[in-house]
Amino acid sequence: MLDVIEKAKGRSVTIQSPGTVANLVCGFDILGLALNDPCDVMTVKLIDRPEVIIHNVDDYNLPTDPQKNVAGVPLLDMIERLGNQVGFDVTIEKRIKPGSGLGSSAASAAGGVVAANHLLGNIFSQNDLVQMAMLGERLASGVKHADNIAPCITGGVTLIRSILPLDITGISSPPLYVTIVHPQIEVRTEDARQILRKQILLKDAIKQWGNIAGLVAGLMKGDYELIGRSLEDVLIEPVRSILIPAFAEVKAKSLEAGALGGGISGSGPSIFMLSKDEVTALAVESAMKEVYTQTGIAYYTYVTTINKEGVKIIG
Ligand code: ADP
Repeated sequence: MLDVIEKAKGRSVTIQSPGTVANLVCGFDILGLALNDPCDVMTVKLIDRPEVIIHNVDDYNLPTDPQKNVAGVPLLDMIERLGNQVGFDVTIEKRIKPGSGLGSSAASAAGGVVAANHLLGNIFSQNDLVQMAMLGERLASGVKHADNIAPCITGGVTLIRSILPLDITGISSPPLYVTIVHPQIEVRTEDARQILRKQILLKDAIKQWGNIAGLVAGLMKGDYELIGRSLEDVLIEPVRSILIPAFAEVKAKSLEAGALGGGISGSGPSIFMLSKDEVTALAVESAMKEVYTQTGIAYYTYVTTINKEGVKIIG
């Protein structure tokens, strides 16, 4: 171990860390996917002292105190696991707006540990990295969850069957386009969690697990019709969508434009829709723009595809 650390000291790596859509409609807390756009960029350098130094090169004014930055806490945990013999200097260029529901916090938490692990010759397993990165999610939202972290690290669509013990598996998927509207308002994950009902009816649970199984089967079989029918959330969306202006109109118009289905991205305020092809995804974008222009709320849209690589080394 000492050898690995000695060799890596002073070296740096630059990575691209993807945005993610978590809480994939019926898959609250258990299904997520990685996006090709937007992505954060981070540079991590190994230093002698057992500390994390954070530089932000964007306009988001995020904390530079590593205990308060979601990139810092997982790296502090890694330093401890390494016996306090090394530290990290981290530069974050955030392109995924914090609080967007597009996995901004996961991109920093996962990006940091993947970059650091790369410098150390990949001594930690993927499960170790997810465990460390989840500490960042706990800082951001008060709860450890992996449905942004796992797809961010591995790419693709990911099922988190359990976080205790950690049990993550990739789900294959046919080509899918993702259209997103991000209203420029903030919905804090912590707040969006607090309004959830703690108890549910058995009949609703049955509907939900039918949809989850249908969605997973549809993705694996490349059955777009089954994917579309299964993109229904009877538990979370009815409660959370009240936090998102014009949610019902965006959804209705997107379905009219040909989307397979979709819902709240993460805990919002972004709304995402899946489509079979680019022409439909662009028509969905136009529909979303039309609805949001009428609300008078500033917004941003993305038309992208599923990122299959996860965090990527770019330099
Ligand atoms: P998102 O779904 O976009 O990740 P969250 O509400 O889960 O949104 O996380 C954003 C919160 O985490 C904000 O309160 C933000 O200030 C805090 N935060 C701390 N460090 C970071 C970071 N490096 N990147 C993103 N958010 C961070």
